[in-house]
Amino acid sequence: MKGKRTKIKLVTPQATLEFGELLGKYLTAGDCVALIGDLGTGKTQLAKGLARGLGVPGEYYITSPTYTIINEYPGRIPLYHFDLYRLGESSDLEDLGYEEYFDGRGVTVIEWAEKITHLLPENRMEIHLRRLKRDVRGLEVIGFGDHYEEILDEIARVSK
Ligand code: ADP
Ligand code: MG
Repeated sequence: MKGKRTKIKLVTPQATLEFGELLGKYLTAGDCVALIGDLGTGKTQLAKGLARGLGVPGEYYITSPTYTIINEYPGRIPLYHFDLYRLGESSDLEDLGYEEYFDGRGVTVIEWAEKITHLLPENRMEIHLRRLKRDVRGLEVIGFGDHYEEILDEIARVSK
């Protein structure tokens, strides 16, 4: 599938948080955001912003789960935050019943999503993160499917 692509430069951690918050506001139940990028590129920072946009109360501290693969947070829409850094075999994820999360009642955000490319829903927002300078991150955001393309159009419109 082709997908609609946008490139964004985020020059501070705060900018990444705000971009995540903006995107989070447009997400709806059952949505999937796949985050792809090396350690320290800002995936968790972006997930924190998404949590804000989804209305997760501020007292919840979003971290990369160390030994758990998934953390759930309540919000306007629940957030299911996966971190697959320590995932061995993708069959481990099948044991977790991950599919129920994807078309569930919440929004699924997946760090290290490239480890399970074959398991990702066809329709999704895919975000590739790169470290350009110490505090500068380059994002390529790809919306696969009409719903996600519309979100990108809307974000472009309000960001003008
Ligand atoms: P990851 O989850 O990809 O390993 P984190 O979000 O945990 O990355 O860490 C990113 C680190 O980079 C944080 O310490 C953050 O403060 C720092 N950082 C610096 N500039 C940025 C930026 N523009 N966007 C996001 N994080 C940034
Ligand atoms: Mg992380």
